Amino acid sequence: MNFKFFALCAFACLSASLSATEKEFTSPDGKVKVVVSDESGKPSYKVDYENVQMLVASPLGLSTNIGDYTQNLKMTDCELSDVNDTYQLRNIKQSTVNYQARQAICHFEQDGKKAIDVIFRVSNRDVAFCYKIYEKRVRNNQTLVCVVNGEESGFQFPQNTTTFLCPQSRPMGGFARTSPSYETSYTVDDAIGKNGWGEGYSFPCLFKVADDRWVLISETGVDGNYCASRLLNVNGALYKIGFPQEGECNGFGTTNASVHLPCQTPWRTITVGPLANIVETTVPFDLVKPKYEASQEYIYGKGSWSWIIGMDSSCNFDEQKRYIDFSAAMGYQTVLIDALWDVQIGRDKIAELAAYGKTKGVGLFLWYNSNGSWNDAPQSPIGKMDNNLIRRQEMAWMKSIGIRGIKVDFFGGDKQNMMQLYENILADANDFGILVIFHGCTLPRGWERMFPNYAASEAVLASENLHFGQGACDNEAFNATLHPFIRNTVGSMDFGGSALNKFYNADNQHGTQRRTSDVYALATAVLFQSAVQHFALAPNNLTDAPAWAINFMKSVPTTWDETRFIDGYPGKYIIMARRHGSQWFIVGVNAEKQTLKKTISIPMIPAAAQLKIYADDEQLNGSVNNVKLNKKQQIEISIPNNGAVVILN
Ligand code: CA
Repeated sequence: MNFKFFALCAFACLSASLSATEKEFTSPDGKVKVVVSDESGKPSYKVDYENVQMLVASPLGLSTNIGDYTQNLKMTDCELSDVNDTYQLRNIKQSTVNYQARQAICHFEQDGKKAIDVIFRVSNRDVAFCYKIYEKRVRNNQTLVCVVNGEESGFQFPQNTTTFLCPQSRPMGGFARTSPSYETSYTVDDAIGKNGWGEGYSFPCLFKVADDRWVLISETGVDGNYCASRLLNVNGALYKIGFPQEGECNGFGTTNASVHLPCQTPWRTITVGPLANIVETTVPFDLVKPKYEASQEYIYGKGSWSWIIGMDSSCNFDEQKRYIDFSAAMGYQTVLIDALWDVQIGRDKIAELAAYGKTKGVGLFLWYNSNGSWNDAPQSPIGKMDNNLIRRQEMAWMKSIGIRGIKVDFFGGDKQNMMQLYENILADANDFGILVIFHGCTLPRGWERMFPNYAASEAVLASENLHFGQGACDNEAFNATLHPFIRNTVGSMDFGGSALNKFYNADNQHGTQRRTSDVYALATAVLFQSAVQHFALAPNNLTDAPAWAINFMKSVPTTWDETRFIDGYPGKYIIMARRHGSQWFIVGVNAEKQTLKKTISIPMIPAAAQLKIYADDEQLNGSVNNVKLNKKQQIEISIPNNGAVVILN
């Protein structure tokens, strides 16, 4: 090769790499901008919100056993279209959602042949993307299945971004080797570039990019057709999708995804903008569709459960009967009977309790161990949910005695085989008219819309920790100010809170001590969204708690028509509003040492309206007052540390 030809070739090659294809598209309101590129053969994307960088160039692509779709890719075209979908969902933060977005299907070729699509959706507050992998034909051989070994899908943050994250646990650790079960503590406003306890972070993951400019990363549409994933730090400000860990599920099952072609992978979601966008997003539900029809109109609502105060020994016939009476006195729809009922009450007596409950208008939820062979959790009933024959027999029995729902606990991680178990439990339960709550489990990923009988998941350090340790009680308000921005904004959260006992003990005099006020208990009944709630109230609260608190807990709804962020900062305080019918519930919680004093605007309530305000004094003594809303539709609030405010129109 002479020098001149070499130079020409080098120039041509350079030009080829310089001639990267870039496509740009925006949200309907133009505020969110996405740019996709195939520079150097490696697909990437970046995201701006109102011209501020939310994500800088971040990698795309996936590696499979039928091709490496992370490099040597050329973008040929992006097909743009508009998506306009109005849907009703009674069990999320908003009952009617009008989802409007720009869709871009970006086609990528490899060696001149169709390889993958990256499908983007850009709404006014969210970016989402997923991949479409095509079948392959080589001569007469068609490849119709493949294994996805990993995703390149990444999120590269600007400098000075800080993080609000909880670590993903190592597998087969914690109580009875049940981890990971999304029960770790958050670090807030932490530096970028860490990797949790070495295994990344549980979704959803919140990042602060600039002043009131935030990014929430999560995923949705995950079912038995794929594995669930986590967020791994690669280096510096680059994070990427991580598949499950080898040891999950007692080492059984693979860490990758086995798919039939053509296939569309789960959506990676990126909610951007001010905190209002983070709190109000509906992206987990916007991108999925129901997988089957509801076998009946499911009844959500409130209930009580003895276990949170009384623990295992309370799981006996007499105490459950007393809780049925208590639920009836509260006007609640259910009682949740927790672990060990099969041994300590027995199946015939459960049938008797179900019949008794029916006379009082109270249905039963029954606890089950999900095992199986994925961890050492010993609590029974066990071996009823992991096998489809036995599970369906069990559910037929439940239906015969009128059981309302189940709470299935102690799952084995995020591998595809475990996702199939979640899906199979839900689908079978629907056949028998049973609602499903998951505990010791993964994050729900769009399941409120995908599975009509799905009620809620734990996937949080829930109220049990308030019973187990004083530290959790001391940090209760701190955690409450995180959930509306992180865990609870992407899915129903079965927290089991709103205790009015002073102590987490049946005598209400011993054990861990509640630090939060009674008004706080009321506020979190609104703050923590789940269409099915089992509150940590106890029968003694009918006489030892303030009448105004009990009356509020009798009437508070569990389904919402609208949710609005008013003010707050993750880990410090939160003020938000939820509407049920024409009634607004404005609630605030303060975790900061000094009393929070604010003038808030509530333009959704007309001037001169009569407001009912539940508020705390500096000693956390609650009281109720009636106030007329002023002309400016503003109100002054004062919330002491560990206290709250609740305002009703
Ligand atoms: Ca738990």
